[in-house]
Amino acid sequence: MRFARWILNQADVVSLDPQVSDANAVAIGDGKVLAVGSSEDLRVWIGPETEVLDLGGATILPGFHDAHGHVLGYALSFAQVNLVGSGSEQDAVERVVRFAATLPATVPIVGRGWDQNLWPERSFPTHHLLSSCFPHRPVALKRVDGHAVWVNDWVLSRVGISRGTPDPVGGQLVRGVDGKPSGVLIDTAMSIVEHLFPQMDDAEVLPWVAAGLKRLADYGLTAVSDMGIDPLSYRILRLLDERGELPLRVVGYLDAQRFLDMPVSMYPPVTKHQSGDVRFTIAGVKFYQDGALGSRGAALCTCYDDDPDTKGLLFYDLDTFTQKLANVMDAGYQPAVHAIGDHAVHVVLNSLERVLMKPGRAGLRPRIEHAQIVLPQDLRRFAALGVVASIQPRHAVSDRAWAGARIGKKRLENAYLARSFVDAGVSIALGTDFPIEPPDPWLAWLAATERTDLDGQAPVRGGSERLTKMDALIGATAGAAFAAGLPGLGSISPGKWADLTILNLNPLKQHGLAADPWKILGTMVGGIFVKNPCGTSTSSA
Ligand SMILES: [Zn+2]
Repeated sequence: MRFARWILNQADVVSLDPQVSDANAVAIGDGKVLAVGSSEDLRVWIGPETEVLDLGGATILPGFHDAHGHVLGYALSFAQVNLVGSGSEQDAVERVVRFAATLPATVPIVGRGWDQNLWPERSFPTHHLLSSCFPHRPVALKRVDGHAVWVNDWVLSRVGISRGTPDPVGGQLVRGVDGKPSGVLIDTAMSIVEHLFPQMDDAEVLPWVAAGLKRLADYGLTAVSDMGIDPLSYRILRLLDERGELPLRVVGYLDAQRFLDMPVSMYPPVTKHQSGDVRFTIAGVKFYQDGALGSRGAALCTCYDDDPDTKGLLFYDLDTFTQKLANVMDAGYQPAVHAIGDHAVHVVLNSLERVLMKPGRAGLRPRIEHAQIVLPQDLRRFAALGVVASIQPRHAVSDRAWAGARIGKKRLENAYLARSFVDAGVSIALGTDFPIEPPDPWLAWLAATERTDLDGQAPVRGGSERLTKMDALIGATAGAAFAAGLPGLGSISPGKWADLTILNLNPLKQHGLAADPWKILGTMVGGIFVKNPCGTSTSSA
């Protein structure tokens, strides 16, 4: 009989495996879990090469898996001016001025994170103040949700945007009372100015990505599902993986918009088998069917409460979208569809209903990303069609200042759901949508279980949508693995990959907000310690 490489002993093991009860030790070898049980039971796995680690009562969980994030965007957020939490247009511009002082005078300035809903006037910024501070160089500042960009006059004139410029299909040029574009471009309109802000090349981006992944791993994550792999991030993540420098798994979903000019047969191939060593894999394709609530781009069934002229934007009609889904699914890609408004969610379910009529496609486990407003009758359709709800409880906390005014009291009852999905028998996967929200699983946990932030303030949708601690833990581990189509991950079970997060406390046994944040003592990916609870840190064997 073979022996274990590691035995993690004297621990509180939360296996999420119904076959396992009262375990305090895990035996690991060949990248996998060999056995889970009592220290006594596992003694038979100890051989001459086995290292037995006494964890002194620490808690071992299946590895944290963020079901929805953006690795490249997160990594590059540290190379841009960060406007998250800015309190006014003035405050945001001052941050840009301070950041610009650290750059050579001709370099284009990019930034991200403003949210006009948190500002006193709650209206979109205009180019004027920005233009007066930066008359001679391009500035582009993305909204916190990435669905709108705020630019200066230099940019508007350079691309020839003027009063006569029409709104592009699927986008909008925000205009002043005089009809002139005032400096904010929404959704597809953002592409008009993109070429003025040259992308860094691979060699420049790579160290940022490596550093960003390290930060994610430090939060205790052993996997993230990346909802927007573009050709650049594909090349870089592959390279880092080949070099053995990925400190966590990245499950990639190809951004359909970024691969638009390519036939599906030319897409990077889907990964057929999960292994212990290959950490970057491709699972599916990410589509957008609408925009976001913050910029009124989410497609609603009826008009916005604070703008009776708009219902938001649907990106594709039913037939076009159904055909797109069929194309990628027949090529073996799992579809993940961004849908935020109740109308968008409804039509995506209609499309899925049609494509799933063909046998063989259901195994691809379609997922809807965000599903922020869901008609009551559609909740059951998620369960009936086997569609995963990939949700981000942090949004209920972050959107609390404005969501009520935007969608109204009645619609709010169908918004920011979590518990309702579970009660309707829908599989949920929890994520943060980093960099829109911080990737810290502790903050996500607070939002999911307490529906609150560190300041203790109430969210948009309160207590009734709270998840039980067990449901929240499942959503952040097994649910995320299920949603990514990874049967070899998600629980601490014999035969599964040894992806583990080790905490100083058992979150299932904590009560209320008095609890201190947990500390990440260790993480293991495929049987290899990324952070060893007994000291040394390493990303490879
Ligand atoms: Zn996202």
